[in-house]
Amino acid sequence: MTSWQKILKNSITTPQELAEQLAGNVREMEQVAAKYPLRINPYYLDLIKKTGKPLYRQAVPDVRELHDNQGMVDPLDEENLSPVPNLVHKYPDRALFLVCRECAMYCRFCTRKRKVGKKEMVISDRTISAGLEYLRATPEIKEVLLSGGDPLLLSDHRLDNLLTALRAIPSLEIIRIGTRIPCTLPMRITPELAAMLKKHHPLYINTHFNHPAEITAEAALACSRLADAGIPLGCQTVLLKGVNDDPETIENLLRKLLTIRVKPYYLFQADLTRGTAHFRTRIETGLEIMQQLIGHVSGMAIPTFALDAPGGGGKIPLTPAYISALGETLEFTTYKGIPCSYPNQVAF
Ligand SMILES: *Cc1c(COP(=O)(O)O)cnc(C)c1O
Ligand code: SF4
Repeated sequence: MTSWQKILKNSITTPQELAEQLAGNVREMEQVAAKYPLRINPYYLDLIKKTGKPLYRQAVPDVRELHDNQGMVDPLDEENLSPVPNLVHKYPDRALFLVCRECAMYCRFCTRKRKVGKKEMVISDRTISAGLEYLRATPEIKEVLLSGGDPLLLSDHRLDNLLTALRAIPSLEIIRIGTRIPCTLPMRITPELAAMLKKHHPLYINTHFNHPAEITAEAALACSRLADAGIPLGCQTVLLKGVNDDPETIENLLRKLLTIRVKPYYLFQADLTRGTAHFRTRIETGLEIMQQLIGHVSGMAIPTFALDAPGGGGKIPLTPAYISALGETLEFTTYKGIPCSYPNQVAF
């Protein structure tokens, strides 16, 4: 067993163990953990102890998960958009392929809370083969996004086989991996893993950091191993109440991401997932944060603020209003709030 596997094996998975380490109501946590799995590995536990609330809230079961009547079990309609189990084909040119049930930590706000880490989510050689078969038979899919769960919890060998099989599909141009491992278990990003991934270019990785305290020396090393393997790194952050829902925290996070060679990609409005209502912010919160960032912070650090439309409508960018009128001239305000215009004419 390698060292990251040992760390993962020593994860806290029961409220009793958790109560020895962190504050919390054991009985309430037991009720929650009976429905939604608990896993906090020693690395992230240590970070919670150092940082407190913004990381605690992401990982520790909260009784409010059981008292959410507005949320939807499958807000993005993923099950209906799956032609074969664990493959979501929503957009014409790309598909989401769920290849691992587990994560290095179970986020309380997870969009796929209905199944991630639970026995209801069945991933086997058969479902993987069926997904590969669908991708082979559907050449309009040019890009596959591996997700789960967390694909980087697969062994190097299994992942290598999967990537090799995907690369053998001529119509697939791009492989993208969605993973929270650089944030939640960065020691999983070994030199061997990076060397294996490097064989399968063009490969992109979108990771998931939500708070500047998650950007540690270990996370920086993990990201530099991936970036040195030529893998462009993006980040999909979720806006979460009590975690990162203020402009200073987000600015700090985005700036730090650039320093570890991660380009902020999306800032998500939280999905309407049942059991996550206590994390949700109003749309205005995100728009105000974006307005405070745009123009004031390097354009390289600016993600697209977006929501994933309920019912499978896809991701919709949400942008603060800069345009006030569009006709023969475009009337707008600058990032400093100064009115400005641009003649909307073409000469030839
Ligand atoms: C988010 C998502 C994608 C990728 O969308 P991008 O805007 O390209 O990042 C693809 N398929 C599904 C089902 C998704 O939810
Ligand atoms: S790492 Fe991603 S898939 Fe896993 S629990 Fe967290 S949000 Fe869900």
